[in-house]
Amino acid sequence: MTSLLTGRRDFLAGIAAVISNPAAGAAKTIAQTVLGPLDASQLGFTLPHEHLAEGAYYLRKWPRDWGGRAEFVARTVEKLQVVRAAGIGTIVDLTTYDVFRDIGFLEEISRKSGLHMIAATGQRFFPPNVAGVTMPARTIEGLAVFFTREIREGIDGTAIKAGVIKIGIIAGKPTPLEETGLRAGARASKATGAPIRIHTHAADRAGENLASILESEGIDPARVSFDHSDDSGEMDYFLGLVKRGYSLGMDHVHRGLRPEFKPAFERRSECIRQLCDAGFAGKIFLSQDVEFGGSLLPEGVKEWRDTIDPPDGLLFTSRKLIPHLEHNGVTGRDIRTMTVENPRRFFTLA
Ligand SMILES: [Zn+2]
Repeated sequence: MTSLLTGRRDFLAGIAAVISNPAAGAAKTIAQTVLGPLDASQLGFTLPHEHLAEGAYYLRKWPRDWGGRAEFVARTVEKLQVVRAAGIGTIVDLTTYDVFRDIGFLEEISRKSGLHMIAATGQRFFPPNVAGVTMPARTIEGLAVFFTREIREGIDGTAIKAGVIKIGIIAGKPTPLEETGLRAGARASKATGAPIRIHTHAADRAGENLASILESEGIDPARVSFDHSDDSGEMDYFLGLVKRGYSLGMDHVHRGLRPEFKPAFERRSECIRQLCDAGFAGKIFLSQDVEFGGSLLPEGVKEWRDTIDPPDGLLFTSRKLIPHLEHNGVTGRDIRTMTVENPRRFFTLA
């Protein structure tokens, strides 16, 4: 009873503070896009885990298939305009410095397509696995400074700023260097207010191991999403994490359409439905983890990428997954929560 009364007093005190100082109540809701700060209410339907910024890698690797960068950009923009026309408002690009991120390309295709885009700092592989790429630092403090600089000052000498931190953890438990990166990500998040999305190996319940590290850094779980979570199919794993306050990125659902990927599509979508039924739509993100450049590959080399990218590319979620979820009873309200409200809250710099 005492705590209830105290809580009510705090609540009333908060209201009084807002009334006496309206500016304090008008919470800032700014997301940081590649074209600059944007009121997060303008993000709209958001895909929170995709890859487009590595496009220049494909251009470099198969230069003769395009007439040069201009034609490559034009073809990309043409495809993205279809995505925008289908109702997608924002794409969050989780391509970090160590895997061919071309920030100028991302800015250009955002500007020309009209799609909002949020770029990522962070790191995909610890250590980097691309020849010639070295880490800017190998300590928690050094990496945190690098991530923070990409959020506050800009990326690769430009004024284009990251709006999210991506950290890649390959297996169920992080290696020592991955743990260094994770802690650096947590510290950069606390310093800048940018959220963190983590590549997780959900089949080994990685989120549980990472959560305790994040909590030892004092991170608010509401600022963290464990991506590729649907590679697990275990409701107790999901419920444990959402009850602790973490979000789950369900972005490999399409992979379950192919027999070599477990769990199957049906199980993945069923888990999303059950989480919504249990009242946790506010903790779910839907995306596809597409490497968009793959859709631009010359015909002869497209095959491999086609095995893991969804049949509808960036539109799989809206064309296939959402109708399927609705058919199985997920409400329109929960769909909106997952695709519009959660990204608006999550990508607001806290
Ligand atoms: Zn990814």
